[in-house]
Amino acid sequence: MPQAIRYNLGFPDKYDQPSKRAYIACQEFGHTLGLRHSSNRGSCMFPNDVTAAEVLTSDEIGMLNTNYDIPQ
Ligand SMILES: [Zn+2]
Repeated sequence: MPQAIRYNLGFPDKYDQPSKRAYIACQEFGHTLGLRHSSNRGSCMFPNDVTAAEVLTSDEIGMLNTNYDIPQ
């Protein structure tokens, strides 16, 4: 069954631009799939900084492919 994702609008400075929302969504989906925070600013898994990248790194994507046994 489809589920809605809602941002916590109690923190408007974190959600006032699409890129910030993309960063948050990327990180939360990453956590859901088992990824931890990263020290790499080129990853959306970099914590607590909405100016970090909005995407996963190729290493993180590879980890997900391996963890979920997805052929590459
Ligand atoms: Zn996080």
